[in-house]
Amino acid sequence: MINLERMTDHFLNLVQIDSLSKKEKAVALVLQKELEALGAKVEFDEAGKAIGGEIGNLIARFPGNDPSRRPLLLSAHMDTVVPGEGIKPIVEGRKIRSDGRTILGGDDKSGISIIVEVLRALQEKKRPHGEIEVVFTICEEFGLLGAKHLDMSRLKARDGLVLDCDNVGILFTKSPSSDRLEFKVHGLEAHAGVCPERGISAVQIAAEAIGRMKLGRIDSETTANIGVIQGGSATNIVPNCVYIKAESRSHSEEQLTAQTGHMRECFREAAEKFSVELEGKRITGRVEENVWRDYDRMNVPEDAPIVLAVKRAAQALSYQVQTKATGGGCDANVFNKKGITVANLGTGMHDIHTVKEWLAIDEMNQAAEIVLETVQQYK
Ligand SMILES: [Zn+2]
Repeated sequence: MINLERMTDHFLNLVQIDSLSKKEKAVALVLQKELEALGAKVEFDEAGKAIGGEIGNLIARFPGNDPSRRPLLLSAHMDTVVPGEGIKPIVEGRKIRSDGRTILGGDDKSGISIIVEVLRALQEKKRPHGEIEVVFTICEEFGLLGAKHLDMSRLKARDGLVLDCDNVGILFTKSPSSDRLEFKVHGLEAHAGVCPERGISAVQIAAEAIGRMKLGRIDSETTANIGVIQGGSATNIVPNCVYIKAESRSHSEEQLTAQTGHMRECFREAAEKFSVELEGKRITGRVEENVWRDYDRMNVPEDAPIVLAVKRAAQALSYQVQTKATGGGCDANVFNKKGITVANLGTGMHDIHTVKEWLAIDEMNQAAEIVLETVQQYK
């Protein structure tokens, strides 16, 4: 059985240990001790070194008691977003919130608390289960870097669950691929009052490009956003440089290729429209671009063993669990890309990435019961 009081206390303790991205060492060492006390073998991989963090991903092996069963992965991330230092959790009835100065850190310490509680419950009840591989990643909130650098050779599981989304009863099985785009638009500097005709405004080029760009929700599967724009130096100077950071996402690879291509094309075409002739030489606006794949989509089939195990677990407990698609990306995307079929189960965290973040205690309890039952259903 899930011990709700013990899990809640554990959660309250964890959120009071600061763990911003790349600064997860303190919480990782606490978790190492707790997991070792449960009989797990704990190690850290080299991901921390690779990305300049304090510590690597925590990998724990919790032995099974039924050798006929396959190993299962349970994962959550240790890092939190800002403002996430000096968190003071406040319990209000069946909710836990921060004091309003910081986030709560339920993203993703609710996931960690659930996993540790499930291991404790398994140990007490001695019910049949296979080996459980626990991965607590670093740097999820910073480009999924921990998962991207996770040493997969240390894992045997082929299926698993990430606990890193809000509503309990939701199992995310689909999530988009995402491209990142950076543009540096080059114009030509000139005195804005004396000789603007000798300049090319990088701001105007960017405006032209963005003005004709399809952005926001493109279709049911695709979104795009210009997130950052910086440039210019003074009102009396025709600006010669503008930086733009953007992203596009889609559940469809074809649509993503089309959208990313469209955004690049808009900048290229806009730059070509702006030119000046100086001393017999034609000078045209120009764009440097840097485009890369941030992460690949998650597309777990409805009949995947992990989805079926969660559904059987929900049924056994008379809970509803619905599979759904999300527009966000998380470590689950990376695990799937690396060959472990992983879906993302809700934990009861709400209004995440804001100082209004709160956790529904009863939802966390329900999620823990589902995970505990899933571990036993998975064979
Ligand atoms: Zn998260």
